[in-house]
Amino acid sequence: MTLTLTQVAKTFSGATRALLPTDLTVEQGEILSLLGPSGCGKTTLLRIIAGLERADPGAKIRFDGEDVTTQPVEKRKIGMVFQSYALFPNMSVRGNIGYGLKMQGLPRAEIAARVEEVIALCQLAPYAERPVTALSGGQRQRVALARAVAPRPRVLLLDEPLSALDAALRTQLRDELAVLLRRFGITAIFVTHDQDEAMAIADRVAVMSHGRIAQIGTPEALYRNPATTFVARFVGDAMALGGRLEGAELHLPGGSLPLPSSSPGHDVFVRAEDIRLDAQGPLTARVESVTFLGTHYRIALHGVAHEPLFALHSGLSAPRPGEEVRLAIAPERLILLPKEPA
Ligand code: ATP
Repeated sequence: MTLTLTQVAKTFSGATRALLPTDLTVEQGEILSLLGPSGCGKTTLLRIIAGLERADPGAKIRFDGEDVTTQPVEKRKIGMVFQSYALFPNMSVRGNIGYGLKMQGLPRAEIAARVEEVIALCQLAPYAERPVTALSGGQRQRVALARAVAPRPRVLLLDEPLSALDAALRTQLRDELAVLLRRFGITAIFVTHDQDEAMAIADRVAVMSHGRIAQIGTPEALYRNPATTFVARFVGDAMALGGRLEGAELHLPGGSLPLPSSSPGHDVFVRAEDIRLDAQGPLTARVESVTFLGTHYRIALHGVAHEPLFALHSGLSAPRPGEEVRLAIAPERLILLPKEPA
């Protein structure tokens, strides 16, 4: 199903503008993530799509061209998965998954076939007869997902489905979810405040800030070509270099850095993985601290820019705190963004 939103906005009583007028299209089978910090409006947008919240007048919501703007939630044929599993504790896995299908009054044979199909898809066969109370958090969330997709919803809406899980399980289920959602082939919208989660699961990510979509694109496009300072910082933690621009050079406390081109009126950002230790590099810094993280070292550097910078270094050894080092940054790796009003 293709979802089309036109001029969807939400003002709560007390004049809280939770969502500014938003246009958005999600293609058939696409997995879109709404990513942003707390309070940016992502849950409000999801609830409007679900029909749990009514948009301000003037909005249009279409499911495959059908206008559902005023349709109540139970008519929209959506599937939902929340942070809390909301499963029936006294029922088995199979019972939980079949419940919604029974309520729809489907024939028994059809229910059995659909339950088996999603049990197989979600790899729940070994637990099918267990009460859900006898499952781990990750298994329960897979049951919640299976239950949501069994009625073949037109769109699947997921609101922070992984945030109740501990860190290790979260990463595992995140990767599973990315595979599962694609197997279902259902159009899906996934709310999260975790950039790794959004990038790992979504085909496209809509980065939200203060009630609007700041930028929408593939994870790669957002990471490599952020359109605003907010997106550059939120997706991939870009660091501002500050300094003074002069032609195609940026003058910093630690030296002069070549830029890809003369860029008046721009701010220059860099990511930690693009700062290289290089004895011939144009910048000088003092190592403040070094953290060994297994695959790489994270090095805090002082004296280069006006604020401390971090570099990721994947060599077999790292400099020591207090040492002076030279750094290089390839000009094409710098992120140049038009200066924003303070
Ligand atoms: P979080 O990650 O914390 O859930 P969010 O990005 O999902 O945040 P929303 O829940 O959509 O944000 O909230 C957006 C804004 O609207 C917030 O300022 C919030 O306080 C406000 N808001 C949300 N629901 C209501 C409501 N029922 N009445 C009044 N204001 C609300």
